[in-house]
Amino acid sequence: MYTLGVDVGSTTSKCVLLKEGKEIVATSLLRAGTGTDGPARAQEEVLEKAGLTAADIAYVMATGYGRKTLQTATGEMSELSCHARGISALYPETRTIIDIGGQDAKVISLGANGQMMNFVMNDKCAAGTGRFLDVMAGILQLDIGELEKEARKSETAAKISSTCTVFAESEVISQLANGAAREDVVAGICNSVAARVAALAKRIGIKEEVFMSGGVAKNGGVRLALERELGVKIHYSEFSQLMGAYGAALFAYSKAEK
Ligand code: ADP
Repeated sequence: MYTLGVDVGSTTSKCVLLKEGKEIVATSLLRAGTGTDGPARAQEEVLEKAGLTAADIAYVMATGYGRKTLQTATGEMSELSCHARGISALYPETRTIIDIGGQDAKVISLGANGQMMNFVMNDKCAAGTGRFLDVMAGILQLDIGELEKEARKSETAAKISSTCTVFAESEVISQLANGAAREDVVAGICNSVAARVAALAKRIGIKEEVFMSGGVAKNGGVRLALERELGVKIHYSEFSQLMGAYGAALFAYSKAEK
């Protein structure tokens, strides 16, 4: 039996296709989120990779910001639940999840059996989310994937004092105009996101092990700055951005089994 998890994100569409609720048969990730043809293309891609058609899928579970808009969905589930389910299945020792996506950041506390105990969320302000990084990468004419490499070159990170994305944008432009090195500005940008998310995380309390999910987990500049801010080791994987879709595919399997 095949089940599909589709994470209809604000910036990115992600799919994970599971066989018998265990084996990951195929995945897809497209940088086009809700309100675009990204979710449909991501589903086509994952089915094509697996050599399957929509009729072969027993249950399609939608999650993510745009989950209610997915026409092909059999059911839908919150991102919080899906990240918790996916991560606790792969990394059962996790007690805190830090999920930074394209337009929000969430910190989730897990119990010993992987159940969600508590969470805090910032979905009101772009600072402290992937959106802040995307805007800044745009100004610096860097691809989002290049921020980490650039930040690693820096010895003295620039200080970004504005807490608002719009003001921080002007601040970055003026720092560059005044001759600040690009790598120092990038390091400052990563530190700024980490500081915002660390403040959020401290509200809920950090218990180890800590796992980072969401697309921003791919940015080592933010990850390392968060480790410094929180004084803990942060685990992540190349699969971090797909965790919501993976959890959704697991929930889909549980539903289909019934
Ligand atoms: P959403 O589900 O809201 O679309 P994601 O969890 O997919 O969010 O994360 C999207 C964010 O991840 C982007 O805003 C971007 O900042 C970051 N990101 C995506 N790809 C990369 C990458 N290769 N390297 C670093 N950061 C990335």
